[in-house]
Amino acid sequence: MEDKFDCIIVGGGIAGLSAAMVCAQNNLRFLLVERGEFCGAKNVSGGVLWGTELARLVPDYWKAPDAGFERFIRHRRLTFMDEQSAFSLDFKSDHFDQPPYAGITVLRAKFDNWLASKVEAAIEASAFADESFLVPDVLVEELLLESGAVVGIRAGEETFYADCVILAEGVNNLLTRQIGLQPEYVPADYVAVGVKEVIRFDQKVLEDRFQLQDRSGLSNEFVGFASQGVEGGGFLYTNLDTVSVGLVLGMKDLREKGGPKPYDLLDTFKRHPAVADMLRGGESLEYAAHVVSTGDIRALPKEVYADGVLVTGEAAGLLLNSGKAIQGMDYAMHSGILAAEAVAAAKQDEDFSAASLKRYRDALDASYLMQDMRGFQDAVHLLHSPAMFQAVPNLFCDFGRQFFTIDNAPTRKASAMLKDSIRKHSSFLEMMKLGFKARKL
Ligand SMILES: Cc1cc2nc3c(=O)[nH]c(=O)nc-3n(C[C@H](O)[C@H](O)[C@H](O)COP(=O)(O)OP(=O)(O)OC[C@H]3O[C@@H](n4cnc5c(N)ncnc54)[C@H](O)[C@@H]3O)c2cc1C
Repeated sequence: MEDKFDCIIVGGGIAGLSAAMVCAQNNLRFLLVERGEFCGAKNVSGGVLWGTELARLVPDYWKAPDAGFERFIRHRRLTFMDEQSAFSLDFKSDHFDQPPYAGITVLRAKFDNWLASKVEAAIEASAFADESFLVPDVLVEELLLESGAVVGIRAGEETFYADCVILAEGVNNLLTRQIGLQPEYVPADYVAVGVKEVIRFDQKVLEDRFQLQDRSGLSNEFVGFASQGVEGGGFLYTNLDTVSVGLVLGMKDLREKGGPKPYDLLDTFKRHPAVADMLRGGESLEYAAHVVSTGDIRALPKEVYADGVLVTGEAAGLLLNSGKAIQGMDYAMHSGILAAEAVAAAKQDEDFSAASLKRYRDALDASYLMQDMRGFQDAVHLLHSPAMFQAVPNLFCDFGRQFFTIDNAPTRKASAMLKDSIRKHSSFLEMMKLGFKARKL
């Protein structure tokens, strides 16, 4: 066990690369192993990276000519849909204009690969320029254990050893399960399937259509007809010269509804007049599907550390979808950073026991991430209630149709229209119950 690294990181997604950057900055000897041909090759997000933490890893990232992001979000929209109509909450503000931007769109194959190049540069600048490595195209099949502690990894015939291993393997966390931190079986309630298409436009057409200036962009989330009766919702994000459009659909509900095909649902969503208008003339470039957590705290592993090991990002179930946005990438980044900081501190003490690595759990608990995950579980559960993806959007659209129609008849008061819509699509009692739950959001 001579050639031992300080740390091995499994997975070159956002959690793994963020951890690697902090390891390099702290002059640790580390190995990052990624199963894809390159970092990002296997990864899918909608995707908006929320928060400003990227600037902590790559200062002034927005200035680099090769910056790996697409656009910063200046315009946000939440759309309630029924079969014919779309009723939106729309917010656009110059306050989003200042770097480091609080939301940027990314295409993962490009973004992760770019972030990996920044990690390579940090390795070059570190004390272990020739002894730390990012290695793609290698699948880690097993964690190596000695006296119950994780001491390394096995990839094919090869074994590598380290003082500790950071697991950043994403939602399909087979290694986390191997060491018993997560039960083998994850109930379908806690996972969703995401399907996504990237559609290309002439950049000028895209910018005119979405009223984008320079590198500003739009994020649009959809509920209601978007998911066609299945628990979930839709999204549309603008990139430099493409649009990412897709659906996130509850796995359990999909099964219970008789297994409609996610790509059929996506096709129907794209044909909705409000979406079709935005996509007209675009050329489909790529199609992707990926599993994603629902953000239910009950899906978290029973612990995120043990002797010689730390679990980060979606491998640790860290994701929040509270209705405002999906936060999986910023959670991956933040947890990757905290895990690597814990490893750097453990290295100083030369103690990689669970008792020492517990500082990672403490840092997570103290951060916005666990505070929000705990604080917004009611929102997560509310989003899963059928009323939120059926009655409420139908009611909004019905009200909108009445409110915005001007005809040659006496105009009714808005309150009477709203009562009508509630009676048609739900009941006052149900709306009161929803309002009561929503007060906790
Ligand atoms: C359709 C869709 C839309 C989404 N939209 C958003 C959004 O808009 N905003 C947002 O913040 N989040 C979004 N998410 C969630 C977000 O993509 C994830 O939460 C995030 O990617 C998690 O990052 P991670 O680094 O933990 O895992 P991943 O990004 O999944 O990375 C894990 C990496 O580990 C590698 N790996 C796995 N096992 C092994 C192994 N055994 N050996 C070697 N390598 C391995 C994989 O190849 C991969 O590169 C979306 C997800 C989906 C599916």
